[in-house]
Amino acid sequence: MAQDLRSFLDLIKRKKPDDFQIVSKSVDPAYEITALVVKLEREARRRPVLLFENVKGTRFPVLTNLHASRARLAAAMNATPEDTQRVYLRAMEKPIAPKVVRTGPVKEVVLTGDRINLYDLPQIVHHEGDAGPYFTAAISFAKDPTAETWNCAYNRLMIKGRDTTSIHLTTGKHLWEFHRIAEARGEALPVALVIGAHPAIGLGALAIGSIDEDERAIMGGLLGEPLELVKCETSDVLVPAHAELVLECEILPRERTPEGPFGEFTGYSLGERPREIVRVKAITHRRDAMFHDITVAHLDHMLLSTIPMEANLYRAVRAMVPSVKAVRVPGPFTCFVAIEQRVAGQAKNAILAALGADLYMKRIVVVDHDVDVFDDRQVNWAIATRCQPDRDLTVITHARGSDLDPSAREDGSTAKWGVDATAKPSLAAFTPRHRVPPEVWQRINIQDFLP
Ligand code: MN
Repeated sequence: MAQDLRSFLDLIKRKKPDDFQIVSKSVDPAYEITALVVKLEREARRRPVLLFENVKGTRFPVLTNLHASRARLAAAMNATPEDTQRVYLRAMEKPIAPKVVRTGPVKEVVLTGDRINLYDLPQIVHHEGDAGPYFTAAISFAKDPTAETWNCAYNRLMIKGRDTTSIHLTTGKHLWEFHRIAEARGEALPVALVIGAHPAIGLGALAIGSIDEDERAIMGGLLGEPLELVKCETSDVLVPAHAELVLECEILPRERTPEGPFGEFTGYSLGERPREIVRVKAITHRRDAMFHDITVAHLDHMLLSTIPMEANLYRAVRAMVPSVKAVRVPGPFTCFVAIEQRVAGQAKNAILAALGADLYMKRIVVVDHDVDVFDDRQVNWAIATRCQPDRDLTVITHARGSDLDPSAREDGSTAKWGVDATAKPSLAAFTPRHRVPPEVWQRINIQDFLP
């Protein structure tokens, strides 16, 4: 499979031309891009990939809304939409190690010293109240300074100067851990920020697992071949050879800068906080590079992160409850799990497994396998009719969760809860659901009665 964004766009143009839309009219990067994406979705029920050819203040075209369809994300993994979870899990279980190549198109232009200027790139402001322009589609590539453990992640970057941004490192996650290790040694952490990559690379970067699981190998698993990497000009960090643009950087030790507010996936614009500082040492890019933006907090953002989260949660629950049937992340901090409960107590084990498998998870609802977790009404019905809150709620206090949860405590800790909405003592012994007798159901044809 080709590893670059362009080949993927060619595939979309060929297979589903309506899914790719060029906008030639000049746009203001402040709010207009987000406004058009959201209006298209809400008013025209359309979610095409958009390529803005003329963006004020920059010569780089802007690509956005790439991930706003489950079918597109499935195509990026060479899977059908129904099969995405299984294919993603296979990539996690059978990762393919990356390989280093000598050079690649990402090296066509190399800018260092005074030629580095982040203000030459699109200055996109997404929502009212954002503190300024942000890069939302940057994938970080970094290494533990004391070990051969690599990590990839999405990190939001607020533009702070010609060669400076802030970076949001999620407290307790892997890049944050690398930075803390470097900082304890008084060192900067080398990192590369990749903007514009094949969506399989984006999906792999969001894999949730142990710190020693190499996202680059999960990207390979999704691509079906080793990810090709080249060495940075200014560090030993390795980056995808076929990317559109790379910022070669370091995260400074012991310095912080104010960042935010910024409208996030939680649906809120979150307040200003001190965050780590990124210094850019070089920019490399394709000669005619596209600049990739994620329309943050809308489908482009939400769908991309859901597939990797669900795959990891499914894996974690399956380790405790082998008869798990389905897992869905319907919104922020929430997971629905369907299990075929063989013995009492398995629902609670599923709650513990899911809460233990993902820092962001805060509310887990477990239902029996006769409930479709992709239908919110059915899940609500199960909570209403199979759950006694004094018996079936589990609350865990003072845990770590997302630092973007506006309801978290002052010290950043959060409570977590599980809802056991399975029938007790068992589905078989529970009050039966109403139904029309099956032989009547089979026999009745709508056409016979309403010709
Ligand atoms: Mn990791």
